[in-house]
Amino acid sequence: MARKPKLAVWKFASCDGCQLSVLSCEDELLTLANQIEIAYFREASSTVIKGPYDLSLVEGSITTEHDAERIQKIRNASRSLVTLGACATAGGIQALRNFADIKEFLSIVYAKPGYISTLEKSTAIAAHVKVDFELRGCPINKSQLIDVIKAFIHGRAPTVPPHSVCLDCKRKGVVCVMVARGVACMGPVTHTGCGVLCPSYARGCYGCFGPKENPNTASLADWFIRLGTVRDDVVRTFRNFNSDAPAFRVESERQQKLS
Ligand code: SF4
Ligand code: SF4
Repeated sequence: MARKPKLAVWKFASCDGCQLSVLSCEDELLTLANQIEIAYFREASSTVIKGPYDLSLVEGSITTEHDAERIQKIRNASRSLVTLGACATAGGIQALRNFADIKEFLSIVYAKPGYISTLEKSTAIAAHVKVDFELRGCPINKSQLIDVIKAFIHGRAPTVPPHSVCLDCKRKGVVCVMVARGVACMGPVTHTGCGVLCPSYARGCYGCFGPKENPNTASLADWFIRLGTVRDDVVRTFRNFNSDAPAFRVESERQQKLS
């Protein structure tokens, strides 16, 4: 009988939300269980099966020297590597330190900063090793995750679309909060995946799925200013869970220079 592909799930700096999304796929994972072997997933099981692994799913960002060494070993032990969520694909909320002085943070937050061992920046996994696919979201979308796992098992490309939340809004017939109410909304530059959660409740999108493919962030930022958003708030809008995603980082820095 053919060997089942080995799946491993790894954690770096993160809140564990994306691993919980993997766990909450239990029905779908049970269906896949006769096709894959879950070889390493410490949040789900203490069983550890040695690599190499056919597919590694990686949650979290790189924030310590130890992380930076560990991700190299994981890459070397993995045939394919997929990053899960805002931390692994864009540094996560912890990447807000990338725009500040980490030494100042340490001195304010910790009574004994000397005990803390950390890098100055929180960075995406792709800044350290080759990544075969980045799955966005904070947290990730379960159906997109299952599609990605199936794609790598069967040697095909994932079918996760790269378009914006805006496109989904139009398809669902949700009234545009920006056009109808002048609410600043990140939907035009944000990656699909949430099912239009915030605009469905008459709220602007705040970009938790990170940038869509080829986003026009400069144009959207100009629209926010025209709607009356103060420049500092435009900077903050591009700096949240995905602040180190290149498109959002560049725009927040451009807006900061203009303020
Ligand atoms: S509400 Fe936001 S996501 Fe929806 S169409 Fe308007 S700008 Fe786009
Ligand atoms: S609308 Fe935007 S902020 Fe809200 S869940 Fe979707 S991607 Fe995240």
